[in-house]
Amino acid sequence: METVDTLVCARWIATVDPDAVLADHALAIRGGRIVAVLPRAEAQARYAPLERVDRPHHLCTPGLVNAHTHAAMTLLRGLADGLPLEAWLKQGIWPLERRWVGTEFVRDGTDLAIAEMLAAGITCFGDMYAFPEVAAERAVEAGMRCVAGLVIAESPTAWAGHVDEYFAKSLDLHDAFRDHPLVSTSFVAHGATGLEDATLERLRVLVDQLDSPLVMHLHETAGEIDACRRRHGATPVARLARLGLASPSLVAVHAVRFGAEDIELAARTGLHVVHCPTANLKLGSGVAPVPALLAAGVNVALGSDGAASANDLDLVREMRLASLLAAGTSGDASAVAPGLALRMATLAGAEALGIADRTGSLTPGKWADVTCFDLGRLPAVPVADPVAALVGSGGRDFVTDVWVAGRRALSGGRLARLDAADVVTRATGWRTRMLADHTGPTRE
Ligand SMILES: [Zn+2]
Repeated sequence: METVDTLVCARWIATVDPDAVLADHALAIRGGRIVAVLPRAEAQARYAPLERVDRPHHLCTPGLVNAHTHAAMTLLRGLADGLPLEAWLKQGIWPLERRWVGTEFVRDGTDLAIAEMLAAGITCFGDMYAFPEVAAERAVEAGMRCVAGLVIAESPTAWAGHVDEYFAKSLDLHDAFRDHPLVSTSFVAHGATGLEDATLERLRVLVDQLDSPLVMHLHETAGEIDACRRRHGATPVARLARLGLASPSLVAVHAVRFGAEDIELAARTGLHVVHCPTANLKLGSGVAPVPALLAAGVNVALGSDGAASANDLDLVREMRLASLLAAGTSGDASAVAPGLALRMATLAGAEALGIADRTGSLTPGKWADVTCFDLGRLPAVPVADPVAALVGSGGRDFVTDVWVAGRRALSGGRLARLDAADVVTRATGWRTRMLADHTGPTRE
């Protein structure tokens, strides 16, 4: 008998790569990594586990990868609702951020986001916010995987005062997290429109040299595209292509207003798209042309965006919305079938963020980032196709267990390494201070 640390025996295991749903199988974990996925009876004959976990009604999937969020913004949840994107930012969010954002805000906001995401089966998040070193440190503390966003901007924030400082701090952090088992990094920019050509050219050199992802909000609103056309004579993505930045390193978040030429460009250059359906709907931005992007062969991942724009961080709902919106806008009921929705919420995100060799599927050799969903609950019963049951009638409350790199992050629905009550107390304290202050959302 071979010793393994953990043997998870589940009613179903969806491996994603290869694309298979296996009944009555087991997942063997040793040293934080997946050793094998094999029939349960065979696993019991071969392995002597230190811990055996039986989940008789459950679907076991790769941990969900939230390919785009702003974790610390969870502290701003619900503070600027009901505004379209531009007013939401200028009147709602930016004044609050100027007043409040610092290391303690990012620490407490990121902890709140991590608590919510782990409980919802998310094992990895791609982050975009000031003080990425603090977000990364909180992820490590909670035992969660994180792609820390190294912010590049022209204008000052609490984190950096000018463009050279953004580059210097980002490069230091890139080096600090090189080869970290839980944290990797990407360069991030709020949008291309705010960056000068010279800054984008500096970014291109770095992205090429370091083989790093570059994550940007792109084509979120008509105003952004019009402004770019006026100033640069091209759509934002076409401008990036002209500067040599459209490549498999580029991650275009939103892509709501990708036209036929932009979709062709995306397919030709191999850039990735992160679809954030809830945030796009809530802010009135529109719906990304996901069926056309997929048909063209573009890799489309899923993101929650921040909880200030989406109100929560729930990839199970994003899977369902992606599936429903694709069917409703294309007339093809299987444009995003359940298996594809699950792939978008796992492996596609890992591919976009450059970590598909570490996570995103239950493939032997990868880190054991694993989520169990209880399909014995009412809205799922009786189960015909387990992945369809999860995407079509499941919810994040189905999540019972989460492992990240083989370590328990959620057990029986309870956070293993975070004190949930303390996280909530700190978040509530921030809200009390914010509401007592005069700086808040203003409407003109
Ligand atoms: Zn965003």
